[in-house]
Amino acid sequence: MPGSVWLVGAGPGDPGLLTALALCALEEADAIIYDALVDRRILALARPGAALEYAGKRGGRPSPSQPDISARLVQLARDGRRVLRLKGGDPFVFGRGGEEALALKAAGVSFRVVPGITAGIGGLAYAGIPVTHRDIASAVTFLTGHDRAGAVPDNLDWPAIARGSPVIVLYMGLNHLARIAARLIAAGRPPDQPVAIIGRATTAEQRVVVTSLMAAAADAAAWRIEAPTIIAIGEVVRLHATLDWLGTDRQ
Ligand code: SAH
Repeated sequence: MPGSVWLVGAGPGDPGLLTALALCALEEADAIIYDALVDRRILALARPGAALEYAGKRGGRPSPSQPDISARLVQLARDGRRVLRLKGGDPFVFGRGGEEALALKAAGVSFRVVPGITAGIGGLAYAGIPVTHRDIASAVTFLTGHDRAGAVPDNLDWPAIARGSPVIVLYMGLNHLARIAARLIAAGRPPDQPVAIIGRATTAEQRVVVTSLMAAAADAAAWRIEAPTIIAIGEVVRLHATLDWLGTDRQ
């Protein structure tokens, strides 16, 4: 509808993972505000004539602040545009979609949310790693590797996560991987537990490095695994050896 905003997840990369609603929004929106993680092949599906606006970091230039982005969405909607806010993965999983939805609500702009396939599930699937598996992984924790200030989040109960969550999926985890692994090991996680580091998951450049908790940070550097990366920690990673249907191994 003119004057409204769709907050849409574009999935982790492969355009085939778009939802039918996301495709419909791409074909109809007047204005598309997209993030760095949205694949170019997905933007190519936009309606000819749609105005595309980039809202992420590029070439070291500072990105627009979150309030700037929210204000822009409100402004476009008030101008009567059909606005598509397109985000990588799922808009409500470490995507700040909640903040934008709150801003739209506060401004009285109507919106709908279209979930997307999040990297922490879809990226693992493209590496042949089921995020849960009967008997070995009946719980999973999604974690962000850094907080608002860029540090390892210290508001988390690391020992409880280490003990209680057989699978840990780490978003934005590459920079602090050594520290996070050390915390998990200190809290009792086996140092030789398998870890998969999946770079550019679901794209043609997908790479998977299978390593251990102890060696993960060094191996990520040694293999020059490129961002964005999603990191899976837990015994389910062993299934990759058998289920790697895409064949993107580095080790
Ligand atoms: N909303 C997104 C997450 C945004 S946070 C989602 O649901 O997937 C950004 C982080 O997501 C990256 O640092 C990385 O950890 C992960 N990520 C997103 N796309 C990815 C991809 N194609 N491959 C690997 N990791 C990805």
